[in-house]
Amino acid sequence: MQISVISFDGDMTLWDFRKVMRHSLKHTLKAIQQQVPTQRALELTVDEMIVIRNQFAEEVKGKIWNLEEIRLRAFERTLEHIGHPDTELAAYLNAMYLKHRFEDIELYPDVIPTFDVLAPHFKLGLLSNGNTYPERCGLEDRFVFVIFSQDVQVEKPDPRIFEITALQAGCELAQMLHVGDSLENDVAGAQNVGASAVWLNREGVQNNTATQPDYEVTSLTEIPIILGLERRKL
Ligand SMILES: [Mg+2]
Repeated sequence: MQISVISFDGDMTLWDFRKVMRHSLKHTLKAIQQQVPTQRALELTVDEMIVIRNQFAEEVKGKIWNLEEIRLRAFERTLEHIGHPDTELAAYLNAMYLKHRFEDIELYPDVIPTFDVLAPHFKLGLLSNGNTYPERCGLEDRFVFVIFSQDVQVEKPDPRIFEITALQAGCELAQMLHVGDSLENDVAGAQNVGASAVWLNREGVQNNTATQPDYEVTSLTEIPIILGLERRKL
């Protein structure tokens, strides 16, 4: 069956989520150390803040879906961790974090040129387990469909989120090509429901899993070539 729809993962596929997340946490860490001038606050690190957030997210998996709420609660945990519980400060930190998280996000340079080539030929969409909505990263009007796990309360690699996506895109799963950086969430997830998958391997790391992507690329600019569109200087 011919591919007519391309769904893109967001974090680490269209933008460098890890970079903007760490950058935003650095700002909040500085604010914590200014507001709470104790030894424990001074010893706090961004890495620790990430561990605290991820532990909390694991604890509430399937119960709290909203990622901004998880982030807020993680700041509350972080303040408790340094012996300074303060929900008001946590709310302030969360607002500061989100401001940087969305204002300072940058698309990878291959995103727009690739979308420009693909858009006249395919329905493009976003399928993300994150919370960067298109209007928060300059991609408004770029997608025909947009699916976020926090809204549909099921996340990749669960087959149901791919089924919801195909329904929203108005296509059969076999007509869908999903592009993402995660072998588990994106590639195996898509293939398990009969869609095709591109593994975006920007760093050129070794695939040590049993998952075999239909295509592997190091840049999004390779996708138009895979799909048989004329090679264009990007
Ligand atoms: Mg990703």
